[in-house]
Amino acid sequence: MKRYIAGVESTAHTFSVSVVSSEGEILSNAKSVYKPPEGAGIHPFEASQSHISSAPAVLTQALEGSGVGLGDLSAVAYARGPGLGPCLRVGAVVARTLASSLGVPLVPVNHAVGHIELGCLLTKTVDPVVLLVSGGHTMIIAYAGGRWRILGESLDLTLGQLLDQFGRHHGLASPCGRAIEEAASSSRNYLRLPYAVKGNDVSFSGLLTASKQLLDGGESFSDVSYSIQETAFAMVTEVTERALAFTGKREVMIVGGVAANIRLSQMMSTMSARHSARLTATPLEYSGDCGAQIAWTGWLAYKSGVSVPVAESGVTQSWRLDNVDIAWRD
Ligand code: AMP
Ligand code: MG
Repeated sequence: MKRYIAGVESTAHTFSVSVVSSEGEILSNAKSVYKPPEGAGIHPFEASQSHISSAPAVLTQALEGSGVGLGDLSAVAYARGPGLGPCLRVGAVVARTLASSLGVPLVPVNHAVGHIELGCLLTKTVDPVVLLVSGGHTMIIAYAGGRWRILGESLDLTLGQLLDQFGRHHGLASPCGRAIEEAASSSRNYLRLPYAVKGNDVSFSGLLTASKQLLDGGESFSDVSYSIQETAFAMVTEVTERALAFTGKREVMIVGGVAANIRLSQMMSTMSARHSARLTATPLEYSGDCGAQIAWTGWLAYKSGVSVPVAESGVTQSWRLDNVDIAWRD
């Protein structure tokens, strides 16, 4: 019998609710994205206030839009972490309230695992090396022995933060990745920037400083955008290649908001082809944060017996994905 589960995402700028079926159909995926003022970063309290005001409409849209009756929901999942405390708490309250009022189990989900599992579902990927590149993460990940393992990561800024902070320095409003991609597409003038791969980790802080200095020194936004993309994407592609060679896996998957970038896909595609590995990327609509990631992963967790009593359903701001037992994979 087909079952249904709702999922609530609220780790950072996005408040989103989705209903999915046990067969992997996404029946609704309503969202509202908090936009900070131009030139400013995400302010956790302001973002949480935005989530509070958009929650009723997003919830109604997701539940009514799914065509599934409230009484047909088997469980409610929520993103327990990692993320910004005030934002996480809004999602947790909404999910707790819904689960308690329906008398169904509450299922905590790790946000990063959510990105990966929805990516696997939508791209029919089974056992990939994952490049997770978003506002909150830059990690190279592969599954082994009951957990998603981190094979490399950023030692400082995430790739999303690098692009957003660079864009904000130019006066753009966050998120800036799309605007930087557009500006980069009209340049082929590579300006030398620091390339920092340390072991299988990357570091973006020197790259950010040098890129800002180039802008301040009068170089064009389009040339610096091109150069920052070429440098940062080559760094993450190099460490993904090493993880692929090391694990011998045959699939590579890009997930997270930066997966939308075409130049990143091109570099990753050339690299994957060298190893005869299949490259997939989460479709644009689902590559950024969304409730469907939480609902689908919530379903996988719920069917393997994961749930949490409402009284113990806190949030965990720092929750590394290699601490999460994955009972549904072998
Ligand atoms: P997420 O945290 O997964 O929602 O991803 C958000 C991040 O993705 C932000 O840092 C955006 O700037 C970035 N992003 C979105 N679209 C693009 C793009 N086309 N190219 C590069 N980065 C992007
Ligand atoms: Mg994310």
